[in-house]
Amino acid sequence: MTSSYRINYQLRAHKRDPLIEFIKGLLLTPFVLHAKPRKPVLTPSDARGGSQQGPEAGNGDEDNNDYQEEEKPMVDANLQRYLEIMKSVEAMIEEHRRKVRKGVPEHSRLHRIVPSVASFFTPLPLEAAFLNANAKHSIAARRFVPPSFNDIRRILNTAQVMAIAPTLKLITFDGDMTLYDDGTCFTETSSLIPLLITLIRAGLNVAIVTAAGYPGDASKYEERLGGLLRSFRNHKLSEKQLERFYVLGGECNYLFRCGWKKGGATEEGVVGLTYIVPEMYQPADMLAWKSEDIQELLDVAEENLRRCVSNMNLKTTVLRKLRAVGIVPLEGAKIAREQLDECVLSTQQRLLEYQQMSGPSKVAIPFCVFNGGSDVFVDIGNKLIGVQVLQSYLGTAPDATVHVGDQFLSTGNDFATRSSCCTLWIVSPEETEGVLKELTPLLTFPSETE
Ligand SMILES: [Mg+2]
Repeated sequence: MTSSYRINYQLRAHKRDPLIEFIKGLLLTPFVLHAKPRKPVLTPSDARGGSQQGPEAGNGDEDNNDYQEEEKPMVDANLQRYLEIMKSVEAMIEEHRRKVRKGVPEHSRLHRIVPSVASFFTPLPLEAAFLNANAKHSIAARRFVPPSFNDIRRILNTAQVMAIAPTLKLITFDGDMTLYDDGTCFTETSSLIPLLITLIRAGLNVAIVTAAGYPGDASKYEERLGGLLRSFRNHKLSEKQLERFYVLGGECNYLFRCGWKKGGATEEGVVGLTYIVPEMYQPADMLAWKSEDIQELLDVAEENLRRCVSNMNLKTTVLRKLRAVGIVPLEGAKIAREQLDECVLSTQQRLLEYQQMSGPSKVAIPFCVFNGGSDVFVDIGNKLIGVQVLQSYLGTAPDATVHVGDQFLSTGNDFATRSSCCTLWIVSPEETEGVLKELTPLLTFPSETE
């Protein structure tokens, strides 16, 4: 039983986040031991009928242990137990940060318990964040539903927002499912627009780091972000403010800066994007990627994806781009998550084997294979490189950068950013709105108007 459980767990590792599972396990213990059902209240009819079932009907002393008597003391005691746990995890994270600074992360208690734990670029005030989440989701008052994966994911987000707000300089966003629904455009009615404008007015650099790759083609990105760019114009953002907004497409391959452009029907001009040539911001090792090596890697990926499509009879089309290859479902078809994950994991494995067999003489081109929710793509480069090039271009440190995205499982393309910046894991544009509503009141705004 134990070994089959373990095998099952390992095979499902791409669907789990080890740190969240660890915290969830800790919170489950007090829930199991103490969050007992409410004591039944005797109704007049129970009393008339002389019920023999109720805990106060003769054998009360034994049965009383099965219930929590009073509502408020139970909630207060639960809350204290949960807070104690969150405070302990907070302390473990601090210890881990100290060991990382000393160059021995593997010596931390947290690393021993959760070996895959990522870096923490700021402390995380988990106790305060739990109180905040408890006020919204009544975690301590729940007797039948324990603290869930999503409760803990949101608590980590709140803690990260609280910690990074005073030092934040760069905030990057994934596109699909973070700012807008999958494959759709940014519309003028999006409730995220005033929040993004607030971030820019607070002096932050704001960037969209997306898998969507249209080589050097500003008009394609302008089309997808049309509602946002028109809103920038309607709010009359200054050139200096617009210059703080970037779009980095193809994970890390195509950078654009926002600004006023001449054109359109009006005299005023329009807000648009300008392509920045790679030599302006890409490091030497990235500029050295050879195009024949890129195409060879994409050929291997495409061959494997085609094999997956054929083996699983998927109704898809293969899409090849300059620096990407992917499979997208045919109109009306849907690929199950398990099938998407199968394509991702087998292609990851195939490409790693290919690079290993190529030997040390060939520079290994970084790539990312990811489940985009309804499709699978292999992109040259990844969002880790994307965030890093923005950090070096804008002179921003990891503890002053936060990436907001929805794909933080190991088969997702936001996952890689964890090595280089703080992260907020959301699951929908509504949750992005939620974290920005927590963040914006904590920001300080430059006194001079630009
Ligand atoms: Mg996404």
